[in-house]
Amino acid sequence: MALRRKKKELSPQKLELFRNYKKNPSAADRNDFPGDVAERLIVEANGVCQCCDQRRDAHSHHVMPRARNGRGVYENGLRVCTDCHDWLHADEENLQVWISKHMDMYGTNFWLDEKDWDEFHRREAAAAKIVIQEQRRESIKHSFISIVTMWQGRELKKKEVKLIEKLLAGEREMDLIKNLFDIKAPIEEHHDENQTRIEEFLAN
Ligand SMILES: [Zn+2]
Ligand SMILES: [Zn+2]
Repeated sequence: MALRRKKKELSPQKLELFRNYKKNPSAADRNDFPGDVAERLIVEANGVCQCCDQRRDAHSHHVMPRARNGRGVYENGLRVCTDCHDWLHADEENLQVWISKHMDMYGTNFWLDEKDWDEFHRREAAAAKIVIQEQRRESIKHSFISIVTMWQGRELKKKEVKLIEKLLAGEREMDLIKNLFDIKAPIEEHHDENQTRIEEFLAN
């Protein structure tokens, strides 16, 4: 048996694909303007600095600087002359003026690339999940407090409510109480159903 597999000839298309394929582009790569974006910026500037509208353009400037993770996306590009470029990098106020302009044109997060947006949406989804969990906790707590209130036949004291809150501190305790009393969350939607269950529980 041959120790080495014969090297397979790759088609020119495949070779091209491998050349362009980057598995995990580094932050630096993601901040570079790729060829097609750079070309579009140059074509649209049509040889004139987009900052002063007078001198020849010479640089593709990152409106949100690379050092602040401004990506190499079209929305973050500005063709500028050398003087304007130096000025933009020396004067934070001027830099901010252009950041505001691009926010107006392309939205608050104009400098993000696709990967950033994925991350942004993942975080948003995680935050939404936490809100739902919190609502569920509140709902179960609410139901349990009404059970104990009915049990006692009086309003609970602040101290007692605090104690219940302490009791239900963890997810496990929450689940235990929820299953024990078969509480349906959210409580607003299942109010009558929960009430019946509580009454049944107390009657037995
Ligand atoms: Zn200029
Ligand atoms: Zn620049």
